[in-house]
Amino acid sequence: MHQNFDVGRTTLVAAMLGLAALAVHSSLLAEVQKLNAIKAINAAAATAEVTVTPLRDGFSVLMGSGGNIIVFNGKSGKLMIDSGIAVSQPRVEAALARTGPGKIKYLINTHHHWDHTDGNSWVAKTGATIIAHRNTLKHDSVDVHVDDWDVTFKALPPDARPSVLVDREKTLDFDGNKVVIEHFAGGHTDSDLWVWFPRQDVIAVGDVFWNGMYPFIDTQYGGDIDDNILWVDKVLAKVGPNTIIIPGHGAVADRAALAEYRSMLVGVRDKVAALKKEGKSVEQIIAARPTAPFDARYGGAVIAPDTFTRFVYRGL
Ligand SMILES: [Zn+2]
Repeated sequence: MHQNFDVGRTTLVAAMLGLAALAVHSSLLAEVQKLNAIKAINAAAATAEVTVTPLRDGFSVLMGSGGNIIVFNGKSGKLMIDSGIAVSQPRVEAALARTGPGKIKYLINTHHHWDHTDGNSWVAKTGATIIAHRNTLKHDSVDVHVDDWDVTFKALPPDARPSVLVDREKTLDFDGNKVVIEHFAGGHTDSDLWVWFPRQDVIAVGDVFWNGMYPFIDTQYGGDIDDNILWVDKVLAKVGPNTIIIPGHGAVADRAALAEYRSMLVGVRDKVAALKKEGKSVEQIIAARPTAPFDARYGGAVIAPDTFTRFVYRGL
């Protein structure tokens, strides 16, 4: 297993996560996709600049610390969605300050993965109330071993764990703005939440959507391809042409981009399902390249086509 990352690889991983513009040479891309994705994301976060993209009505998205971090500035402070990776705390704090004054009042975790919750430790110390699905508390209260990359994540310290839990749905009032938090099923994990702001027409959907990239689907912790598609269908049914859709990874999107993503998920699922039904092994299915029509659009990021095919296969 590769343990070290030189500057070129770290920059490339940052580029693959949408953190920097870089022309990617295909042989180098193939090499990086064989590396340990978790270590690669951590290495990129350790040095990556944290960028601020202002959206509308007090919303901004911060990129460069693992998953996307969303900030909604209100009169009473900040509502933050996901906390990124702790190593980039100084850069995240500086970026937050650039979005507006005020302390973090609420932090909502879209799911339990470390690249969305590792920063909870420092955010909790600022006095924020942390909200998440009950399974985020469950998984982040113990050491978690991720078999796909053979990495163990230590439990979050007790103060950094969510104290307000969501099972199916919770509605918050934030400065007179309605915030609707919902869970439907295990899509990417069994702890997924979306956060919907009806007045601003903004929705943060977490890792059920990786814009422009093949996703990780955490079949070890309750995710599967069909439920990931179900989540995408729920979002598509809810949003309109002007809705801002913020994915867990990748650029801020709209309904058309999510619909295109759905076509990819369904296209790969149908092909893998048909081959599996014929009795083909996962290696035979990978050799048949079921992702081929989508590789140019989605294959240039941290999850390689073969790896994504394995995640799909496991859920069927
Ligand atoms: Zn995730």
